[in-house]
Amino acid sequence: MPTWQAILQERGWAMNESEEVLCPYCGQSMELLIDTTVRNQRFTTDCEVCCRPFEVIAECDDGEVVSLDTQA
Ligand SMILES: [Zn+2]
Repeated sequence: MPTWQAILQERGWAMNESEEVLCPYCGQSMELLIDTTVRNQRFTTDCEVCCRPFEVIAECDDGEVVSLDTQA
């Protein structure tokens, strides 16, 4: 039995989850797309409101985001 993710991957569907994060500077919440095929990831994004860059640390397991953190 192939897993659900294997089926999705085979069909070329993106494994992105939309998650809400809070800007560590101004507290603005925004939606980010997290690639759930990457188990541990860390990337920098800019806040839409205060335009300051912050780091997003995401942990994924089994096609789901299990932990999401932001760092100024
Ligand atoms: Zn901000």
